Amino acid sequence: MRYADNIAELVGNTPLVRLNRVTGDIAATVLAKIEYFNPGSSSKDRIASRIIDAAERDGLLRAGGTIVEPTSGNTGVGLALVAQQRGYRMVFVVPDKFAGEKVAVLKAYGAEIVMTPTSVPPEHPDSYYSVSDRLAREIPGAFKPNQFDNANGPRAHYETTGPEIWRDTDGRVTHFVAGVGTGGTITGTGRYLREASGGAVTIVGADPEGSIYSGDVGPYLVEGVGEDFWPGTFDPAVVDRYERVGDRESFAMARRLAREEGLFVGGSSGMAVVAALRTARGLGPDDVVVVLLPDHGRGYLSKIFDDDWMRARGFADLLTDPSATDLPV
Ligand code: PMP
Repeated sequence: MRYADNIAELVGNTPLVRLNRVTGDIAATVLAKIEYFNPGSSSKDRIASRIIDAAERDGLLRAGGTIVEPTSGNTGVGLALVAQQRGYRMVFVVPDKFAGEKVAVLKAYGAEIVMTPTSVPPEHPDSYYSVSDRLAREIPGAFKPNQFDNANGPRAHYETTGPEIWRDTDGRVTHFVAGVGTGGTITGTGRYLREASGGAVTIVGADPEGSIYSGDVGPYLVEGVGEDFWPGTFDPAVVDRYERVGDRESFAMARRLAREEGLFVGGSSGMAVVAALRTARGLGPDDVVVVLLPDHGRGYLSKIFDDDWMRARGFADLLTDPSATDLPV
């Protein structure tokens, strides 16, 4: 019989699929790594088990303990998969800009949710960082994984995501493109690919317009990527260059990926593909661009995939013509 002992064992080993339609006349091979094949439907499953194992080993998490974390949803799902198997209570602190579906999913996994306002700076007492710090202090036996400062995040990607891409491309990958949130994905995967290739792989950070990593800070709508501070989990030295992408192009591409490639993914995946296509344009037929798509589109049904929501935010023209962006694809 072939079966996993529990769902957490099925994390990782996600497939690569070639993009065929949104690539237009691009000569390079563009391969998408589909992280929604993880059991919690996102790349964040990878970091959850590493983080919980390490916390148990270091004595930070003991039987009957509580996991308290600020999370936009995906990290919460990953943590919930592992935590629930081991009998931990879960309390997740969520900024109110995040999609209703994501919160509903966390509740379905048995987590408790604390909502916080998005429109306050990180140091404000009501910010999701501050509230989670306070809960972690007040709840007895609480452990805060702190995904923005936990080295087990990038380590998980160094040990799994990077080797999978190297193995599945037979070492032919020339460019790796990923969005930067905590920076764990690009730091761990990028570092592995750079070492494995002897420095031959170019690492491209996809970043929203409005994120600190690639320019001035300002508001934006795409979820899970970009920041207004520099997290400890991100090593900027891993990134060779950035592609800065607006909400408009990110959402247009997310919708095109569903219609044209059969890939129902989130806004940060749309953003990463825009960055990958800009990267691939001008490359030759021997180049292999791998772009990581972090999560599933189902978490955005009331946003990017809701026509009224899109219209209300000035994206009405994308509903009839998703290629009506500044992007020459
Ligand atoms: N996209 C989505 C939807 C995410 O939830 C995250 C994680 N915050 C990312 C991209 C970025 O991944 P990382 O935190 O590893 O930089």
